[in-house]
Amino acid sequence: MLTKEDIVDQLGRLNIANKVVCFHSSFKSFGDVQGGPQTIIDAFLESGCTLVCPTFFYSAQTYPARINYLNNGIDYESVPEMCSVNYMGATSQIEPSMGVIAKMLLGIEYTTRTKHPTNSFAIAGKDKALLLANQSPFNVYSAYKAIYSENLPALVILAGVDFESCTPIHYAEELAGKSLFRRWAVQNGQVVEVEEGSCSDGFESLRPYVNKIESEIKIGDSLVRVYNFHCLVDTIAEAIVRDPSITHCGIENCHRCNDMVRGGRNKA
Ligand SMILES: [Zn+2]
Repeated sequence: MLTKEDIVDQLGRLNIANKVVCFHSSFKSFGDVQGGPQTIIDAFLESGCTLVCPTFFYSAQTYPARINYLNNGIDYESVPEMCSVNYMGATSQIEPSMGVIAKMLLGIEYTTRTKHPTNSFAIAGKDKALLLANQSPFNVYSAYKAIYSENLPALVILAGVDFESCTPIHYAEELAGKSLFRRWAVQNGQVVEVEEGSCSDGFESLRPYVNKIESEIKIGDSLVRVYNFHCLVDTIAEAIVRDPSITHCGIENCHRCNDMVRGGRNKA
């Protein structure tokens, strides 16, 4: 049975105090944890870091405007006309695929969720305020931009998940000069236009490019991959610039991958 003290001890080897930790996890990967997902959250925050976890919610997406942006990763013929789900920022409005740790973090009183109806992030910890600047539906990765532009010490930690769950890679696509897509969602009864990243199903093929900057530790049963945030996004952005198709998931008619390989949404 993994205890909070065990986790704090392991995290001590990663020196996470005073760092931002972009954390992507499968709770099951840890094995038995005394006290459940809350224990993991407590161990990170008591170690002195600021946690950032994606808390995406897809069910409120809609396409009512049918604004025909070019190269926007959509087959407009095949999308539903209107959805009935209204995103109101409720803590229950999160995809199961985000994991139970992110879901639990979202429900804690000291957590702030960024203002984005489909691609929000839950942020908690001492440097939370630094990461909340400039957030908007048109600036989906504002927290990552704050880490990058303010040169905040930061790690990307993947616990029992791979690069398909590694949202900072979408920010690396932006750094590589790609233009993110536009989507629409129902938020508080209104249709709002938002910025979103692309398909992540092919991201694990980037792994060979980051071998030299990857470290691995075990926490309980979980194999945990750790990267310096800045090294990771810079290395991956360089790889994407050299080979724009490297992020493609391999599915021939994946509109998001096909359009992102071509540079993303055409802003003209
Ligand atoms: Zn794809």
